[in-house]
Amino acid sequence: MEKAVEPATGITDAQLAGMRVVVMGLGRFGGQLGVIRFLVHRGARVLVTDQAAADTLQSSLNQLGDLPLDYRLGGHDEADLSGADLLVVSPAVDRRTSVFFQAAVQAGIPWTTEINLLLERCRGAVFAVTGSVGKSTTCAMLHAILSDDTAGQEAGFERALLGGNIGRSLLDEVDGIDERTAVVLELSSFQLEALSKAAGSVRCAALTNIMPHHLQRHGTYEAYQNAKFRLFDLLTPGGVAITAAEDAGIRDRIQSKARHHNASFVEGRLAASMYPLRLPGLHNQQNAHMALKMAMSAGVSERQGRKVLAGFGGLAHRLEHVMTLDEVDFYNDSKATSPEAVRTAVAAFDRPIVLMVGGKDIGDELNHIQDLDGENVRAVIGFGEAGKRLARLLESAWGDQETSFRTIHSVAQAARTTRQIAHPGDVVLFSPGCPSYDAFVNYEERGSVFTEAVKSLVAMTQTVRQ
Ligand code: ADP
Repeated sequence: MEKAVEPATGITDAQLAGMRVVVMGLGRFGGQLGVIRFLVHRGARVLVTDQAAADTLQSSLNQLGDLPLDYRLGGHDEADLSGADLLVVSPAVDRRTSVFFQAAVQAGIPWTTEINLLLERCRGAVFAVTGSVGKSTTCAMLHAILSDDTAGQEAGFERALLGGNIGRSLLDEVDGIDERTAVVLELSSFQLEALSKAAGSVRCAALTNIMPHHLQRHGTYEAYQNAKFRLFDLLTPGGVAITAAEDAGIRDRIQSKARHHNASFVEGRLAASMYPLRLPGLHNQQNAHMALKMAMSAGVSERQGRKVLAGFGGLAHRLEHVMTLDEVDFYNDSKATSPEAVRTAVAAFDRPIVLMVGGKDIGDELNHIQDLDGENVRAVIGFGEAGKRLARLLESAWGDQETSFRTIHSVAQAARTTRQIAHPGDVVLFSPGCPSYDAFVNYEERGSVFTEAVKSLVAMTQTVRQ
């Protein structure tokens, strides 16, 4: 039976020196490297444990270089808990079901997370963003604004850092963060769920939107919402809460949390396009609006904030403009791992689209692709494990449309084929709507394969024209 225990708070650097710390969950993509380095530099004796075997974790292990660490890889061993003073848990660990975590709790071992250790020490002005979608883009936009010299001066910051669920861990450099540093943090529900209420103070807290995601892990939509709401318990007096969530109940709860903490509530919803952006889509208008409101809450002028947003180039793999070839624009939206994200991407264009969909076949969830409005879709190319299924689903949903359908297994081959299908003025949109792990390590690798294939078209075109 699960034992509900809050994270430990107020662990000082002096206490960390000489502590025996078990870091649970190293991960393949380096999410815990920052906290491991921090602990070692503070003099802790650290054991790193992960269910995955060393060969899977090689990239993370390489980055730990010759730090003095003990390892238990390829499985957890409760024997490692004996003598442990602290457990640092990765957000990837499901604490409700982890036998190892529950054993630590039963043994009375305090636990915490990288984000708690950071927030407890961070003296900078924290701007934290959560939500179901749009977190990374909103954070990157806000970071761009606060990094701008003029905007930074208006708000009284000398520099701005970006961390949390995006980019790198800021923990190992926390000593250099003072009040003149703006700290933009993207926080996932898994990070928030383990947030200590005593973990520092947040100047500006934002929820972009909320929809039932990650329910397998959180159990219920309510539990997922509660994880997100925890962020607003960290608001400082005089701080600001912002949301663009549509649901009145959600907005009320955030408003009442803001009131409780003597913080103000700012409306973040946007009704229509109002920013000249390089990024397409109403959803990016919404993200820009949230970022601007957050920046303005810190003293940035609307004029300067808008100026920075107008030049913001976007993040890789999210409707990323790869290139224009013979008046066809190629977009890499590999981050789109659900039919819902494909809908957002297709809605961002009012030109004919050659749409590439496919990836890992995750079953009935893919049926939602049939809700896609295909009015602008000239052709569908299915790729990977789910390509055929998605193409068939769309074909049956759009029976009376002029759209053409085909399937080509490899992403690179499918990308090159778009060249023969797209007309000048069209958009080639790589928005898979499925996870990538049928053929790739992650969506980044998948997006890079698409991008490289598209770039190779230039060379092919030149050869043909010579
Ligand atoms: P997150 O960090 O929350 O995953 P991102 O900024 O990385 O969000 O965007 C991921 C995808 O989510 C985008 O490619 C787009 O499909 C969708 N998205 C982004 N912002 C929004 C928004 N404000 N509303 C709806 N969908 C969005």
